[in-house]
Amino acid sequence: MKDTSSIGILTVLTGPSGVGKGSLVKKILERHNEIWLSVSATTRHPREGEKYGEHYFFFDQKEFKDLIEKDGFLEWAKFAGNFYGTPKKEVCQKLSNGNKVLLEIELEGARQIRKSFPEGVQIFIAPPNLEELEKRIRGRGTESEESINARLNRAKKEMQAMNEFDFVIINDDLNKALLKLEETMKLI
Ligand code: 5GP
Repeated sequence: MKDTSSIGILTVLTGPSGVGKGSLVKKILERHNEIWLSVSATTRHPREGEKYGEHYFFFDQKEFKDLIEKDGFLEWAKFAGNFYGTPKKEVCQKLSNGNKVLLEIELEGARQIRKSFPEGVQIFIAPPNLEELEKRIRGRGTESEESINARLNRAKKEMQAMNEFDFVIINDDLNKALLKLEETMKLI
């Protein structure tokens, strides 16, 4: 088991699409303003209401590849047909200033961070089961059938990897999962 005194430096939150990571992150940020959430870059198109620089930096393929070439990402991965990555500069600045940094990323990215930041804490958010996950993704109404299938296939792979993580939290009930997350991150 990892030395939990390192909790609060760099925390990685991973889990299948639709598991409710976004809702958990939103609540954690509302309740703990000492946490800084990294804003990722993606080539995915914005969903309704999503804002550049707040939800993501929406890049085209060229902008994304340019930043890869400039070694500007801490990690990056392809997910359901699009690229996603964590811009390096601001995360490193925040960490060196002693901030608590949170990354909300998928499995391949979490694996890369595990190598570059072995002292970071990695938490996997799991759904109660795959049927519930499918219901949540469909209920969100934001994805095409193709994207839903890609996300469900990826979810199966991610669930098989949950034992790689330091902690697993099952998101059956949002408030209970939030409490567990706060305990795990030593926020309460
Ligand atoms: P969505 O398209 O639903 O916003 O995100 C799809 C998946 O990409 C989610 O599992 C999310 O955690 C992940 N993701 C978001 N930003 C990043 C990132 O910077 N790097 C990686 N590797 N995954 C990310």
